[in-house]
Amino acid sequence: MSADQWAEGVDRLLAEIGPVTGASRVWIFQLLEVQSDAVVQDYVFEWASSERYRQLNQNRFRFFSAAVEDPVYRRLVEERQAGLSHDFCIPVMPEGPFRRDLAGQSIQSMATVPIFVNGHWWGTLGIDDCERPVSWRGPGLDLLEAAGQLIAAALYRYQLNHRSRQIELFHKVANCGVWEISLRNGRVWCSQALKTVLGYPETYPRVPLRRLLARLHSEDRAALRACLRDLWRAAESAQFRLDARLRLADRSWLWHEIIGEIQCNESGRPVAIAGLVLDISRRKQDEEQALAASQLDALTGALNRRGMDEHLETIGPVTGLRHLILLDIDHFKEINDTHGHLVGDALLRMMVGRLRHELRPDDGLVRLGGEEFAVLVGGLGDDQAMALAERLRRRIAAEPFLVEMSQDEPPLKVAMSISLGVARQGDDVSQAPNQLMAEADQALYAAKHGGRNCALFYGEAAERRAVNLDTD
Ligand code: GH3
Ligand code: MG
Ligand code: MG
Repeated sequence: MSADQWAEGVDRLLAEIGPVTGASRVWIFQLLEVQSDAVVQDYVFEWASSERYRQLNQNRFRFFSAAVEDPVYRRLVEERQAGLSHDFCIPVMPEGPFRRDLAGQSIQSMATVPIFVNGHWWGTLGIDDCERPVSWRGPGLDLLEAAGQLIAAALYRYQLNHRSRQIELFHKVANCGVWEISLRNGRVWCSQALKTVLGYPETYPRVPLRRLLARLHSEDRAALRACLRDLWRAAESAQFRLDARLRLADRSWLWHEIIGEIQCNESGRPVAIAGLVLDISRRKQDEEQALAASQLDALTGALNRRGMDEHLETIGPVTGLRHLILLDIDHFKEINDTHGHLVGDALLRMMVGRLRHELRPDDGLVRLGGEEFAVLVGGLGDDQAMALAERLRRRIAAEPFLVEMSQDEPPLKVAMSISLGVARQGDDVSQAPNQLMAEADQALYAAKHGGRNCALFYGEAAERRAVNLDTD
């Protein structure tokens, strides 16, 4: 009875039992439900010695409900649940509904065995004899019991096979793998899907733990060790979840979520750690994009203040000095008032474009708000920082911006200038950011008062370093 064709195997088996026993009918009822007052069953297999004994095609046996108010039938059901076989010789049975029911089907004698699959009463295998009122005790019932066990084994194998196919399908669809590490011998079991992801042939019975761990990014490996340690210390039901980078068969790194928990045996003793590996690369990508977007100013694409903090964190301590250049558009209110807010917006975008031309990829350009921007640069001397500020100023003032209004009109020409204040980060890094901002702001303020369209360095040297339109 191969797993796939088990039903045909059952048909053949019933057809063997029939002639050997001389029965009129060999049948299987599948148990659907045991209710308090009835048993719901379905008639699923039948062999009949002749057409007149055939019952399978009768509608009254489709998902039929048999009442258990008759104490004889009630006891029969209870005993079948307990795994007992039965035989009945109808003429010598006590009067009652069950006997009447069997007699109504012209049955003279009957033998039944419950079919148990994986410890559960799955159904009943029986033979009816409509001609001989005999006892089936002995070889007849023994044969039926052996057949019941064969059918149960075939069913169980079919269920397991079916389930494992469903699980593999689920793994494939859900992009997830299953793993289990035995606490007894450290052996690792991986599901087919996980082996495929890691590039191991399906035939590998197991993947060594060492090799599995080597596939994790070193930072994540340390985190996984910590997770496992915590899991071990915590309560039995504890679970861990870890986002980790996994190196795949094609050597690419992909984000996966590793979920694991302790598995205990029936007596509550931990025997394994088992869990899932889920591909979360898409989610990570979305998260990273959302994070990046949350750090950018929507209008100009420059960093916002959150982006600036992140930028400072990622570039870390700079070698050499760090300078802050604050810049603010001159008389921008007037420009807005003259040309309208939309033109103002376009100018802000175009200005950021021009500023970028003078900056290196690592220089953080931040829109602090309105028409006020900051540039954070590292590794420059004071003179170089001032020279950069001056280049930025010149780039904006050098030629007017051309704002496209509509297809029929020539672009609007708007001349614009910026004022800039430059400051150098002090040695005391802890109070540095606020101080740096305040000093650059003072320099910017001085530049505005010094006539605008100029860059000033904070402090004593401010006057000397002032670069004015007049000296251009
Ligand atoms: P100055 O800095 O030279 O002293 O003069 P200002 O006119 O630029 O000064 P202020 O800072 O008082 O005005 C800034 C103006 O910038 C006010 C507002 O109309 C304009 N502004 C701020 N944010 C935006 C924006 O997102 N879009 C547009 N179109 N205008 C903005
Ligand atoms: Mg301004
Ligand atoms: Mg301003």
